[in-house]
Order: sequence, then structure tokens, then C-alpha cells
Amino acid sequence: MSLWEDIKSTVTEGGKVAADKAKEISDIASYKAQIAQYDATLLKQYRELGKAYFADNREEALAKYPEIAQAIADAADKKAEYEKKCADVKGVRECPSCGTSVSADHAFCPKCGAKMPEAAPVEEEFTEDLVSDFEDAAAENAAATEPAENPEV
Ligand SMILES: [Zn+2]
Repeated sequence: MSLWEDIKSTVTEGGKVAADKAKEISDIASYKAQIAQYDATLLKQYRELGKAYFADNREEALAKYPEIAQAIADAADKKAEYEKKCADVKGVRECPSCGTSVSADHAFCPKCGAKMPEAAPVEEEFTEDLVSDFEDAAAENAAATEPAENPEV
């Protein structure tokens, strides 16, 4: 093999090695993308399976996997508690007949037509007190500042 042929073959070999390396890197990137996609699928399906299992076998789950199942039960209770607080603040009430969430301005359930109970009167009194306190304070404030603001009146 002449020196030129030797160089040529080395360069060609080098190019081939570089191309192989590039292909390896792109293969790995593609495989990693596939792995991430299947990871996401696994996570989603495990979550669905876990939800379904817990819903169907709550007591068994609590006995077999006490830590995980108790954490789920506690979180679900807390979530419901805060959803109720949220609904209370917004004046949303639960229909006594079908359980639908009904906003405060409805006298009847829009789903089943049952009569909605009156809103808690305690909250209204509290709001009225606040409003009248505010009005008293505003009136006092206005009386105190009126001469200075309108000296000619
Ligand atoms: Zn209803």
C-alpha cells in the first residue's frame, strides 16, 4: 500500500467511524425519547389502575399498603374539606336531593328541581354588620373631613 493509499484509507476509515458515532448518538436520542414516552404511558396507566383499585378495594388497600393508602385517604379528605370551604365562600350549596352543587342565586336545583334550603343567616348578619360598620365609619370620616374639603358649604 502506497503512502497516499494508506492516508486515503485512514481518512475514509475515520469518516466511517465518525458517521457510526453520529448514528449511535442519534439512535440513543431516539431510544431515550421512546423510553420517556413509555415512562409517561406507564405512569398514566399505573395511576388509573391505582385509582380504580383504591375505589374498588379501599379497605384491602388500607390493610395491604397502609402508608400509601392512608396518605391517599387523608389527601382525599383534605381535598374534599377545601372544596367545601371554597363552595361555602362562593355561596354554593349542595342539592339535598341529588347532591349537585348549586349556586346561591338558585331557589331550586337546576338538575332535579328540588327546592334549595335557605342560605345560612349567620353569614348574612355578619356581612350586614360589616357593611353598617363600614358605613358608620365612612359617615364619621366624611363629617370630620367635610369642612376642610368644602369650606364654602
Ligand atoms: Zn338536585
